[in-house]
Amino acid sequence: MSEDLHRRAEQLKIDSMAGGISAPDLQWLGAHLEGCPPCAQRARAIERAVRTLRSVTVRVDPALLRTTRMKVYVRAEDLNRRGARRLLLWTSCATSWVWMAACALFLWHGFERLASQMGIPNWLWQAGFGLWWALPLLIVGIVLSMQQPAVNNERDLTAGLD
Ligand SMILES: [Zn+2]
Repeated sequence: MSEDLHRRAEQLKIDSMAGGISAPDLQWLGAHLEGCPPCAQRARAIERAVRTLRSVTVRVDPALLRTTRMKVYVRAEDLNRRGARRLLLWTSCATSWVWMAACALFLWHGFERLASQMGIPNWLWQAGFGLWWALPLLIVGIVLSMQQPAVNNERDLTAGLD
């Protein structure tokens, strides 16, 4: 019998002990274990090992548990808040881009007319127009780079656990 089949049987046994496997996999595993004594023995050993592990109780300091829950809650709140802020920022930026796209032709002529009246060279007013277009992107970039997470490193997460 192929070595892959024995490995598959072992993996399916582990998966079945961890949370369940599909009915066809379970059927295949049962058939394989009936015809393969080494795998059946290994499956029994896996069952014993998992039963032993499940019988072990781990005592956790209630203060550590409370602190960990609080840190996870704070971190989740922080992620939610930042996500909402970022969505608002991108929405306002997209609105700005749509508005600018709608006004681009008028702005172009406005820049051109103003530049010709003031004697500004073409390259300069066209660069100004390009900069005006990139302004929302620059603002978003600056704001996103300035955002500081409330919990920004592992040291903050573990603070107070000592
Ligand atoms: Zn086998």
